[in-house]
Amino acid sequence: MIGTGYLGATHAACMAELGYEVVGVDVDPDKVAALQSGRAPFYEPGLEDLLAPHLASGRLRFTASVEDAAAFGDVHFICVGTPQRKGEFAADTRYLDEAVDALAPHLDRPCLVVGKSTVPVGTAARLAERLAEKAACGSAAELAWNPEFLREGHAVQDTLKPDRLVVGVRSEAAEARLREVYAPLIDAEVPFLVTDFATSELVKVSANAFLSTKISFINAMAEVCEAAGADVTQLSRALSYDPRIGGLFLNAGLGFGGGCLPKDIRAFMARAGELGVDQALTFLREVDAINMRRRFKMVDLAREACGGGFLGRRVAVLGAAFKPESDDIRDSPALNVAAQVQLQGGEVTVYDPKAMDNARKMYPGLGYAESAFEAARGAHVVLHLTEWREFREIDPAELAEIVAERAIIDGRNALDSPRWRAAGWTFRALGRP
Ligand code: NAD
Repeated sequence: MIGTGYLGATHAACMAELGYEVVGVDVDPDKVAALQSGRAPFYEPGLEDLLAPHLASGRLRFTASVEDAAAFGDVHFICVGTPQRKGEFAADTRYLDEAVDALAPHLDRPCLVVGKSTVPVGTAARLAERLAEKAACGSAAELAWNPEFLREGHAVQDTLKPDRLVVGVRSEAAEARLREVYAPLIDAEVPFLVTDFATSELVKVSANAFLSTKISFINAMAEVCEAAGADVTQLSRALSYDPRIGGLFLNAGLGFGGGCLPKDIRAFMARAGELGVDQALTFLREVDAINMRRRFKMVDLAREACGGGFLGRRVAVLGAAFKPESDDIRDSPALNVAAQVQLQGGEVTVYDPKAMDNARKMYPGLGYAESAFEAARGAHVVLHLTEWREFREIDPAELAEIVAERAIIDGRNALDSPRWRAAGWTFRALGRP
């Protein structure tokens, strides 16, 4: 497993769980050391439970030596990052190039190199050439693509029981190898779809485009509800009974963030432009814009709750991770709102059950507290921005005792509004009267 971040570390541990001997490689020595000592360098439920036994049995190990991994593996999964390029929409695929360049010269026997990262369509074809050119064994080192659909917070479960497996291959041998690798999952009736490179790459980005569109659709309805005095939570519930629409990803709120959806839809637009079909994806600009507008709306609601300005006002922010059950703060809507409020003069205190260390590193200027209650002490408004279960379980009557003003804004439409109102709170939410 080349690259042991959220995707690679999880995939490494799960492959060991499926019975394989696995070596994980990363260029970040701290990550390697943490994983080798059984500690996940990020929060992912169930991951450490897999690391410990498989490290102990020797079936799983981590190293910084790509040479070691090249000598060891028959199948090499590439799981490195593909972030958004600075100042552009396009994806930065340089880490893939670097991974192939580092690995290839040490590949001296037939093997399969399998890309799992999310990439612009056409990347696999380009990397296949690069691999054939640079591999010590030449074309005996073959490339395949196998996009990953795991969700942070459910990554272990999603890897051991995925909805589907998609592989882009150029030969029957590559397909046969991947069928062998995933035999335990195929036997468990996980659909296994075999495509060409380009289709496999597009499955992943179009899935993310669809999901982000669904979220932005309901958030656009929330904007209309706000203007019309309607309630988007009732609207989405009523829509969800239509089986053609469905209820998943139809919760209006602060919108999406994280290390995938935002950068993936932008990279998809950039790639469509290069392919001369930018018009096909111009709607994703709107999807992105609707999503970002929710953050501004949240700041507006908070400012209103503070009497029209943030100066001298204390604002409690519940949540820093981009979603619950994760400590990932990449493009986190919660922290984006927290930072905007602070820039406008508010005194912000953030609490998150898991993402405090990451948040402190990226936003050292914000205030932090060790609990939701501590964050809310003396607050003029409480903002609920990441829907952790812990926040739903807060007793509004108890919290009411320690705030300066009983004002809460639910940015995730996840709190029980009648309960909060009954405890004397002014309760506001995105998309609701
Ligand atoms: P990440 O930043 O957590 O992990 C990437 C890792 O690759 C880092 O640890 C980095 O040090 C390492 N790395 C970079 N260059 C390397 C090299 N040359 N050799 C070895 N290691 C190297 O990113 P992530 O969230 O795991 O995402 C990885 C890819 O998977 C991205 O393309 C992402 O879009 C995709 N993906 C992510 C998720 C998710 O939920 N995180 C889900 C599906 C797909």
